[in-house]
Amino acid sequence: MIISIASGKGGTGKTTVATNLAVALGNGVQLLDCDVEEPNAHLFLRPTLSPAEIVTMPVPVVDEDKCTLCGQCGEICVFKAIVVLGETVLPFHELCHSCGGCMAVCPVDAITEVGRELGVIESGHSNGVEFVHGRLHIGEAMSPPLIKAVRARTRPGGLTIIDAPPGTSCPVIAAMKATDFVLLVTEPTPFGLHDLKLAVGAVRALGLPCGLVINRADMGDDRVRAYAREEGLPILMEIPFDRRIAEAYSRGELVVTALPEWKPKFVQLFEAIAAIVKHTGAKSE
Ligand code: ADP
Ligand code: MG
Repeated sequence: MIISIASGKGGTGKTTVATNLAVALGNGVQLLDCDVEEPNAHLFLRPTLSPAEIVTMPVPVVDEDKCTLCGQCGEICVFKAIVVLGETVLPFHELCHSCGGCMAVCPVDAITEVGRELGVIESGHSNGVEFVHGRLHIGEAMSPPLIKAVRARTRPGGLTIIDAPPGTSCPVIAAMKATDFVLLVTEPTPFGLHDLKLAVGAVRALGLPCGLVINRADMGDDRVRAYAREEGLPILMEIPFDRRIAEAYSRGELVVTALPEWKPKFVQLFEAIAAIVKHTGAKSE
């Protein structure tokens, strides 16, 4: 089973929930930190990480001796990642989405592909949890291929928990598509509600079952709960604002270690998710 943990808004508590859920369940659980622009789950699990493995994506290079400057490569590229400029063809590798279209349409086979480095993958073990994360190179915009590379490490047949990046754009979709359940971490504030609605829209477009964790549940107002009721979204856990949670986090300590009374609550959260997945059927298989 694959559970992705997402939220429209950043800083809602995704990593707190993902790391504590993984460690509360322990043995054999896999945690994939797919927040590749700012991975931080390792700070709480503290695994000894394997040597970094480089992840690349294929981008075009043009053999100028073969190229006839016909311009068909530029015409097919919707991202303007390859253009004919005067007597030369210029590929813009940072804009390329690796679709291979330019290579396919080139009538004289002047285009080949090389790997462009996006970031690295590291993995390790800690607290019975198998851990994998991706680290996108600084300034790099193309995170979905790296997220897919991290997800390719999913161990079939086991329980995998994915810590997703914030937002509702391509990186989040890459992290949550084809998972069995999306756990949306939200907070009862107007900003939380606004971004929750966007996240629910994305989850529904993907046809995935989802449920909510309301974090800092004792702050703000009741509009998130009212929205959950109207939309039939189950609230699976509520976590109050607790200074001790923030303090533990700042020390790189897990909530289930600093406040052990939370461990059974995270186990119950998993049981509630498992019951829904059993009812709706697994999507990732
Ligand atoms: P995200 O992964 O969504 O960005 P994090 O789990 O990293 O969010 O949490 C963001 C910040 O909020 C951290 O500083 C964390 O300590 C704090 N935080 C999360 N939940 C609580 C809580 N229930 N009470 C107090 N602080 C919290
Ligand atoms: Mg996070």
